[in-house]
Amino acid sequence: MKKLAICALCGWLCSPLSFAADAGPLRGYANESARTEREWEVKFRSIPDPANLRAYMQRLSARPHHVGSAYDKDNAEWILSRFKQWGLDARIETFGVLFPTPKERVVEMVEPARFSARLEEPTQAVDPTSSQHSEQLPTYNAYSIDGDVTAPLVYVNFGVPEDYEVLERLGISVKGAIVIARYGASWRGIKPKVAAEHGAVGCLIYSDPHEDGYFQGEVFPDGALRNKDGVQRGSVMDMPVYPGDPLTPGVGATPDAKRLPRSEAVTLTKIPVLPISWGDAQPLLAALKGPVAPERWRGALPMTYRIGPGPAKVHLKVAFNWDLKTLYNVIARIPGATYPDEWIIRGNHHDAWVNGADDPVSGASALMEEARALGMLLSQGWKPKRTVVLCVWDGEEPGLLGSTEWAEAHAAELGRNAAAYINSDSNARGYLEVSGSHTLEKFINGVAREIDDPESKVTVWKRLQFHRIANPPPTATPQERQEVRSRADLRISALGSGSDYTAFLDHLGIASVNLGFGGEGKEGIYHSIYDDFYWYTHFSDGDFAYGRALAQTAGTAVLRLADAELLPFDFVNLSDTIRRYVEEVERLARERREQTVERNRQIDEGLFAAIDDPREKMLPPAKEPVPPFLNFAPLENGLAALERTAGLYDRAMAEASQNGGSALARAALREANARLIEVERALTSNDGLPNRPWFKHQIYAPGFYTGYGVKTLPGVRESIEQKQWRQADDQIVKVGKVLENAGEAIQGAAAELEKAAR
Ligand SMILES: [Zn+2]
Repeated sequence: MKKLAICALCGWLCSPLSFAADAGPLRGYANESARTEREWEVKFRSIPDPANLRAYMQRLSARPHHVGSAYDKDNAEWILSRFKQWGLDARIETFGVLFPTPKERVVEMVEPARFSARLEEPTQAVDPTSSQHSEQLPTYNAYSIDGDVTAPLVYVNFGVPEDYEVLERLGISVKGAIVIARYGASWRGIKPKVAAEHGAVGCLIYSDPHEDGYFQGEVFPDGALRNKDGVQRGSVMDMPVYPGDPLTPGVGATPDAKRLPRSEAVTLTKIPVLPISWGDAQPLLAALKGPVAPERWRGALPMTYRIGPGPAKVHLKVAFNWDLKTLYNVIARIPGATYPDEWIIRGNHHDAWVNGADDPVSGASALMEEARALGMLLSQGWKPKRTVVLCVWDGEEPGLLGSTEWAEAHAAELGRNAAAYINSDSNARGYLEVSGSHTLEKFINGVAREIDDPESKVTVWKRLQFHRIANPPPTATPQERQEVRSRADLRISALGSGSDYTAFLDHLGIASVNLGFGGEGKEGIYHSIYDDFYWYTHFSDGDFAYGRALAQTAGTAVLRLADAELLPFDFVNLSDTIRRYVEEVERLARERREQTVERNRQIDEGLFAAIDDPREKMLPPAKEPVPPFLNFAPLENGLAALERTAGLYDRAMAEASQNGGSALARAALREANARLIEVERALTSNDGLPNRPWFKHQIYAPGFYTGYGVKTLPGVRESIEQKQWRQADDQIVKVGKVLENAGEAIQGAAAELEKAAR
């Protein structure tokens, strides 16, 4: 029974819990231990200091520190020495990975006029580290193959599959052409992948000022946005197939690992790729003729965007040093006192494309300050129940190399022991951004309610809620708008890919969350030489208030997971979320069917020929077979099992938490915790997703054609999107079974909890 009292705030009878959430019970804790836990958490949150964050950033971003550079290793050793100084047991773990660096780069227009691209980011006088040219990696896309091609140019907008449908209607083929795509709308690696599938022989990717340049605001060095010469480096490895070292899929890249010959590494691109600035792209784009680009294809350059092909003809040549380079992961371990074989893992990468103050040092500095704070708590007598593992990864930028190789090398131990992984990467000012496993949704909401926002006088949870109330997505239904106020927890989004959680969540089935602040202030220095200390301290979180908030948020999460008697997972939010996904894929199948029926009818009626403007010819779309009805019953049955057992577990938890949770305090919970860890594993399938067995999670995956963007229920959803109807049927059965397995694991946890609490 909740006690009712006259509330000091509203002067009426209300639940005191709703006003003092931070003093209420903690999920997974007996009341007595919750009190102690809160004392440690308050101590922890008082430690992170913006002055330290600033000093770490200045040190770590002082020189370029990409994979294989002297300063990358130097940084790892420096982080190691700090960890040791703070009393942590830490070491460096190395791996040997394929990491290409450019030997030759040429982009030139040979017809109708001659133009040679500069392919260089110049020094800015006010920005001291922008002049370190001898140590900077040239502008390039890692894991492009070598190539030397001369061909007519075609503008393909963002270069995503829908753009090629438009080209088809316009009667334009990219076969034998070099395509030029603008950055945005998908992860960059998708652009050369889709271009190659359509027969292109080369791919240029440029930063249009519409996305992160003068259209958005003042450009660097006067402002935060990308200038005429700024280039976005980045990986174009086919990470939706598998991330990590291309030569050692599925196993750690240790010295004795069996390596594929480079010719068999399927994650390298099929065609040569190079990124360029808009300064280099403009003359090429301006030389295109052919149809005027549709309105939504147009960027912000002062010219008429045309598609081609040609008459612009481009020569693209790239050649790389295909060397093995050493990765330096820094790993610290705080052994658990009660459950040493249950690990809470916290990570952020330290390598950058160049100086990388924002990406990744803003996040890595927060992790360092967390490490220092944990060291202080240890010296004051804090003893975590579980083992805490702090990881500062190398090689994230080229392809999540450090985290993936480490996770693959330790897959067996992690499979047994890892309870949760908490990731961060770049950090900025603004709102808390959380995505991750919905088993942790309730938990991370609880953490967010403890953290004060540095700019407004509310918690970061409340600020995010207000932000969502004020800015509902345009597609939100009235219920969804209402729900932001009424649902106990703010929804977290699902994880696709794009940072180091990928191997933990998608490959090993470890409950994961990604944390960071952002949404205020713009940036256009991503993966350029201008992402440095000067830029960050002038245009981002220059007082490091949000760096401190990140350290407080992630650190509180680690502490609370490590100290809990019972792991604070929740399955009601999980099943509630999966119900939404199931409804989405059912709707998707229905809409695909209806759309095909309607379009075939329009084709039969001669609609396209009748409305066509003969002066701007569009080809009618081709008729397609009508998709069959799919049987979603296995998915519904699996979901029903999940919902039922989630309820069971919740009741077992409520019972164990009665009388101040005395049952939790005295019970032996080893078995219950072990069952809880198995739930996320149960959401994976050993043979993985269709055509990409490395990706084992059946609820979340990066899209095969979106790259970073998530596809939930990926096996089912992508089969429908790709019109693989028989495969869709198989996947529905498979995912239904996975949901049933998860239900069994949850039921097992409920039974163990009941047994222990008896
Ligand atoms: Zn990063």
